[in-house]
Amino acid sequence: MAQSYNFNAGPARLPAEVLEQVREELLDLNGTGLSVLEISHRSKVYETIHGETRQLLRELLDIPSDCEVLFLQGGASTQFAMVPLNLLVEGRTAAYVLSGTWSVKARMEADKVGDVVVAASSEADKFRNVPDVRGLSVRPDAAYVHMTTNETIAGTQFREFPDPGGVPLVADMSSDLLSRTVDMSRFDLVYAGAQKNAGPSGVTIVIVRNDLLRGIPRTVPDILNYRVHAEHGSLFHTPPVFSIYIVNLVLKWIRRNGGVVGIERNNRRKAELLYRTVDESGGFYEGLAGRDSRSMMNVTFRTPDAERDELFVKESERHGFVGLKGHRDAGHLRASIYNAVGLEDCLALTAFMRSFLQRYG
Ligand code: PMP
Repeated sequence: MAQSYNFNAGPARLPAEVLEQVREELLDLNGTGLSVLEISHRSKVYETIHGETRQLLRELLDIPSDCEVLFLQGGASTQFAMVPLNLLVEGRTAAYVLSGTWSVKARMEADKVGDVVVAASSEADKFRNVPDVRGLSVRPDAAYVHMTTNETIAGTQFREFPDPGGVPLVADMSSDLLSRTVDMSRFDLVYAGAQKNAGPSGVTIVIVRNDLLRGIPRTVPDILNYRVHAEHGSLFHTPPVFSIYIVNLVLKWIRRNGGVVGIERNNRRKAELLYRTVDESGGFYEGLAGRDSRSMMNVTFRTPDAERDELFVKESERHGFVGLKGHRDAGHLRASIYNAVGLEDCLALTAFMRSFLQRYG
């Protein structure tokens, strides 16, 4: 099999040893003679996986004990709607921090549900930087403040989080959950599609503080109601068993690799390597994010013109690199370097970037 370097933005690379274990156990899980794809979600075997996965997340992320950990479906996009449906009650407003495409999408869904105000925005800066949220001021009776901690398309990431003074803080962490240590006690609701750092698509991890569940309006349909999912331990209906099983294996892989602290150390080295290659290219490569907002997960850059961007993608593909074309709405280059992407992959990419610069610079 030809070697490929996978820089896809999501679904993205999974650790090889996880995929091998999945292959090994596919037809016979733990000596049951059955596949995880074929057993009841109410069986002991599956319940053990379900509970263990939840526990692993609690340990790895140091989730406060007054929070529920849920496994839902519909991707992070469903959370754009679920958050306001559950939390934006009549007469209140929700405050959104706008830092790029994903936070804008989240806000647009909330607009359909109730009153929304923009708490901070870097739109005027074309989202090159994340907005300053240190002194964020929101009305004390706001329903919640929503932010996107890592903007996957712009390639920007918050280093600091607001302190909205008693107003619940909600965060879309789809592209950086489990990639760096974050004080989870700062947040009241966190959601993330699994397909970047935690596993395959099909399951969305939601972490929600218990006291938020009490105020959910009775009119919210059960399937979209956090309280209903929490009361049923995320077994209100058939969960995405295969996705959760793979998340379980990925979490054990993270634990074997030094936990989130160890993973973050490696992620930092990977990102530094790529940004250094951009910065030392004499202006040939231009990083798209402002320096202080650069994402450790999605490195966005471009060459001096669209023709060379296209050539870069074509040539990189011939050399075994996958996924370096930026998002279709953004039209630049992007290397997504989630947890399972190795330092050696980043070293191979920097070597390719240097040789491309020599040939076309
Ligand atoms: N939020 C962010 C930050 C994302 O990167 C993505 C997907 N790339 C989404 C939300 C949407 O996720 P999904 O496709 O799982 O609905």
